[in-house]
Amino acid sequence: MKIVKTAASAAVVLSLALSVTACGGKEGTAGDKPGGDTDKKSLPAYKVAKDVKVDSAVLKKAQKRGKLIIGAKSDQPYLGFQDPSTKEYEGFDIEVAKMVAADLGFDPKKDIQFKTIDSSIRETAISKGQVDLMVGTYTINDERKKQVSFAGPYYMAGQDLLVRKDEKSIKGPDSLKGKKVCSIVGSTPLQNLKDNKDKYGAETVEFGKYTECVKQLLDGQVDAMTTDDAILKGYAAERPTKLKVIGKTFSEEPYGIGLKKGDKALQTAVLDAVEAHQKDGSYKKAYDATLGRSGSKFTEPPALERD
Ligand code: GLU
Repeated sequence: MKIVKTAASAAVVLSLALSVTACGGKEGTAGDKPGGDTDKKSLPAYKVAKDVKVDSAVLKKAQKRGKLIIGAKSDQPYLGFQDPSTKEYEGFDIEVAKMVAADLGFDPKKDIQFKTIDSSIRETAISKGQVDLMVGTYTINDERKKQVSFAGPYYMAGQDLLVRKDEKSIKGPDSLKGKKVCSIVGSTPLQNLKDNKDKYGAETVEFGKYTECVKQLLDGQVDAMTTDDAILKGYAAERPTKLKVIGKTFSEEPYGIGLKKGDKALQTAVLDAVEAHQKDGSYKKAYDATLGRSGSKFTEPPALERD
């Protein structure tokens, strides 16, 4: 078909585009917000440091290559989300990655290469050098510290439950007996349910990607999904008429930036960067423009650990 552009057809296209925007909820309607709702105009700009010298083999290699490779999540709206059409990453973790990269001398606009790394392969990706840093809802714990080092904690989350809006019988972790609960391979919340099967009594269903659990929940295949509250609030904010977060956290999930085990110099440089941005207000600004819009109100971040 030959497309003839007329003023009338242009008007139809324009009005269609406008109604799509309204349905997308970017204007603050009660509709769905696929992929989150970053306030792009309010994101901070990060000044790129010059002549950065850090005694880290990983950083020196990145400087030579001219790109910092950062592992990220791609299916967590408001935290780490990759827009399928533009391929751009957005969310709070992405902003944390950008502020750190800028302080390490990499321009967030062109010198970061984000790589999607799912929960179960984070340690491998870091230790094999597939990523220089990992910024993706990564809980610091002793088990993981055997394989990688962390800079953090830069945020404190807690395990919670996501259910369908009309769910009445699940009120918290104590009402999971016999319920089907979906979570992600290699994640601490799944491990918690499995390690404490006697206590919670949930039947666990495992997937590799968070969005697969969300689909299972929406389709009625499982009764709940469990992971960190920050992640779940993002899915609930995406589909406010269909999903809700219970709001009773039952673990502590301190987020850290993963890096090569024992790379003290890089760890210190990353900690310095996070600290500087927490002090100059850009951390809060980034939070308010991303995760803050999903219903997780800003609270003072936990104290950074320097050992
Ligand atoms: N923070 C938890 C973890 O590191 C759950 C979120 C995730 O899978 O990234 O396992």
